[in-house]
Amino acid sequence: AKAHVEAIERADLLNCFITKTPELALAQAQESDARLAKGEARPLEGLPLGIKDLYCTQGVRTTAASRILDDFTPTYESTVSGNLRRDGALMLGKLNLDEFAMGSSNETSAFGPVVSPWRRKKNGVFDDARMVPGGSSGGSSAAVAARLCLGATATDTGGSIRQPAAFTGTVGVKPTYGRCSRWGIVAFASSLDQAGPIARSVRDAAILLGSMAGHDPKDTTSVDAPVPDYEAAIGLSVKGRRIGIPREYRLDGLSDEISALWDQGARWLKDAGAEIVEISLPHTRYALPAYYIIAPAEASSNLARYDGVRYGLREKGRDVNEMYENTRAKGFGAEVRRRVMIGTYVLSAGYYDAYYVRAQKIRTLIKRDFDQAFEAGVDAVLTPATPSPAFAFGEKGKADPVEMYLNDVFTVTVNMAGLPGLALPAGLSSNGLPLALQLIGKPFDEESLFALASTME
Ligand code: GLN
Repeated sequence: AKAHVEAIERADLLNCFITKTPELALAQAQESDARLAKGEARPLEGLPLGIKDLYCTQGVRTTAASRILDDFTPTYESTVSGNLRRDGALMLGKLNLDEFAMGSSNETSAFGPVVSPWRRKKNGVFDDARMVPGGSSGGSSAAVAARLCLGATATDTGGSIRQPAAFTGTVGVKPTYGRCSRWGIVAFASSLDQAGPIARSVRDAAILLGSMAGHDPKDTTSVDAPVPDYEAAIGLSVKGRRIGIPREYRLDGLSDEISALWDQGARWLKDAGAEIVEISLPHTRYALPAYYIIAPAEASSNLARYDGVRYGLREKGRDVNEMYENTRAKGFGAEVRRRVMIGTYVLSAGYYDAYYVRAQKIRTLIKRDFDQAFEAGVDAVLTPATPSPAFAFGEKGKADPVEMYLNDVFTVTVNMAGLPGLALPAGLSSNGLPLALQLIGKPFDEESLFALASTME
């Protein structure tokens, strides 16, 4: 714990943490020492973790990287961070993210961007450009990659665990919708949000998920099913497993580098005894536009609670409406305001059927595509995790936010279908940055993802 606290101090430039809790971590570590001495160690005894600042932590400021939650200190602990604590993990602090988890580069945080510990090469020499760590869980991915914590919690609504993991050479797992409780995690798009770990290895991710997962009566969408021993899946044989390669993910303009990585991944699985089959997921190309209707729609509803009355920031106004307006104008950043406006628009009386209902129908079709592949005997699906390696700050999405949204093209389908997805490092780009593959599993079959990924590490 001490070594990690010191490493965090030295790595201030990366801006991974919004709130550091070194005293808390060291006090918890002492308690762990005492338990270890008595032979009463819990499963994660003394392991120093970072917690994404979207998880409410009792007595510790929780911001969602937004000014509107200014100085909000929850009186309760999210179920998932509570589970980790129950198992003996320590909390080093609260990790930076895109504001309300909306973004793919960590540039929308009100607390400044997170800097990736990676640098790219130009003509064989390291470039000065600061690279994004991905988003929204950029603090989690950068902190794990920079060895500032042993592992971190993250959340994934449309890729926010897998894409930052991909950009930083770490392992990220988005479990099946309902596997982890969402209770006490600041809501973005409730039908898509899931908690999950970012870790250094597949095994570490399996261990962390085992502690985080489980039924919670306080979240009616969390599933009442036993949590398997995920660690036991590491190294299991994948002989005879059928792995689907979805034709529609070969996007026009997919780089040679990403194509080659994907082929390599398929070869690794084949060498491990799996069978590779081409499959079709015909509605793939509608996933991204439908996601960017459904996620903002739910966000506009969820974020209505930030009215200057119940939480955090309150600006003055002559009457209550002006107080709302001033609070929201000052409290929400540009991307959050854009999402709330899009969401309100697609839910409004005249447009609801044309946009929101249509997007929901597309969502069903996407889910059916996967169902059909699984019914036809496919055990898991292999795709690239992202269409490109990390980019530099300000390089994407400045003039056109859609350019940023395109980052999520391979990840959003998984949230739309509620499936588990795992991103794992699989190589380096020509400019020296991590590249990653994604494994997509059947509902509640995270174990197969861990087994398959552990053969590719
Ligand atoms: N990048 C996506 C978005 O901005 C996904 C975010 C997430 O998964 N939280 O909506």
